[in-house]
Amino acid sequence: MEWNWKTIIEPFKIKSVEPLGITTRAERETALEQAHYNLFNIRAEKVLIDLLTDSGTGAMSAAQWGGIMVGDESYAGARSYYNFEAEIKDLTGFDEVIPVHQGRAAEKILFGAIAGRGKYIISNSHFDTTRANVEFTGAEAMDFPVKEALDFDKPAPFKGNADVAAMEKFIKEKGAKNIPLCVMTVTNNSLGGQPVSMENLKAVRELCNKHGIPMFLDCARFAENAYFIKLREKGWAGCPVREIAEQMFELADGAWMSSKKDALVNIGGFLALNNKEWSAKARQMLILTEGFNTYGGLAGRDLEAIAIGLREVLDENYLQYRIRSSAYLGEGLLKHGVPIINPPGGHGVYVNAKKFLPHIKPQQFPAQALACSLYLEGGIRGVEIGTLMFGKRGKDGAFQAAPMELVRLAIPRRVYTQSHIDYVIEVFAWLAKRKKSIKGLEIVEAPAILPHFTAKLKLAK
Ligand SMILES: *Cc1c(COP(=O)(O)O)cnc(C)c1O
Repeated sequence: MEWNWKTIIEPFKIKSVEPLGITTRAERETALEQAHYNLFNIRAEKVLIDLLTDSGTGAMSAAQWGGIMVGDESYAGARSYYNFEAEIKDLTGFDEVIPVHQGRAAEKILFGAIAGRGKYIISNSHFDTTRANVEFTGAEAMDFPVKEALDFDKPAPFKGNADVAAMEKFIKEKGAKNIPLCVMTVTNNSLGGQPVSMENLKAVRELCNKHGIPMFLDCARFAENAYFIKLREKGWAGCPVREIAEQMFELADGAWMSSKKDALVNIGGFLALNNKEWSAKARQMLILTEGFNTYGGLAGRDLEAIAIGLREVLDENYLQYRIRSSAYLGEGLLKHGVPIINPPGGHGVYVNAKKFLPHIKPQQFPAQALACSLYLEGGIRGVEIGTLMFGKRGKDGAFQAAPMELVRLAIPRRVYTQSHIDYVIEVFAWLAKRKKSIKGLEIVEAPAILPHFTAKLKLAK
């Protein structure tokens, strides 16, 4: 439907509700101390607005819950698998459709089959689980983002793009035979949920053709990416988003998806490809670690809900609302002088804590300090992407300053309404006026690997 009004409304009504975790400031102060200033240790029932992640946190539709009831739980050959397979084949055009329990399981069985020591995987940017699964095989994960991706303040329409010239230089240096795969992550999660243009996908495709390298999509947020192409790229405004998405897949040789994002479900994923040799190897690992070919670690009902979600997510009324809600949050924050990665991404807003809290030095974790203040004052939970998460240590064991200090506010799909977002903006506006009073943090103890999940901190003196 054509929408001529300024206010973009939630294009759904609410049939089932859950109470929010309403607490007092004093309760949150205690919770924060008990959690050692680590928001991963806070019980979700003590969080008012949870923007920790958009992964698996969305609300399913009545149609999806209906699908859950008719899900076929047969071990082999379940009807729900064939619905799932048909939906993915129709969307992506790939012949081999392999269900997995979530995105990283697809990465594990794919890279187990094709990567290994001496090999390189090239990408616009690897997501962290992708990088970890590439490196686990002994291969190296190389990122080639465009330069404007690293200039947070200056808006650009397609900051998720790959730097094609830099990629080509690398291919020539290392030899195409050592590069089994090029991965385009759509949207680019690690660098702010920014989209990749169709033009850039085509240029990377041509580069890969020239050197005989297959290209896959890591397509967790393919629908958000396709909608950004419609909004921002010349020549696509009149094209239905479904067709844009189909053309994105047409450029690729395969794809994997964490269905916890744009398939609008709480768990699930898939690997889809044409290469029979690769799919045969991946299926061997699938049976070893996930499950039989027609369920791959999922219940039949999950497969059914994914098939329905993949159709619903391409509804343009939904996508208009989805992209508008992160833009609305981003604009609200900018209006109150809160610096963000501009423009806002598809699945959320990334606040630049380094710029917001210049009085806190990196060794005192400004992004973590901001995330904790946001929880203390407003019961809002975001996630630090900075010195604590990157976790690089010097010889003396002290944390070394990360290149960026961000707080990601990821927006779950179809969960919060505009008044929730207005509330988040209001809390930020209040904090912006008192930001000098926000104190840094120091480490009490932190493990060597992935410290942000379990580190204990306290207020710095
Ligand atoms: C979430 C995500 C993954 C990993 O998927 P899980 O379902 O969390 O295992 C991989 N790539 C991208 C781009 C993601 O956003």
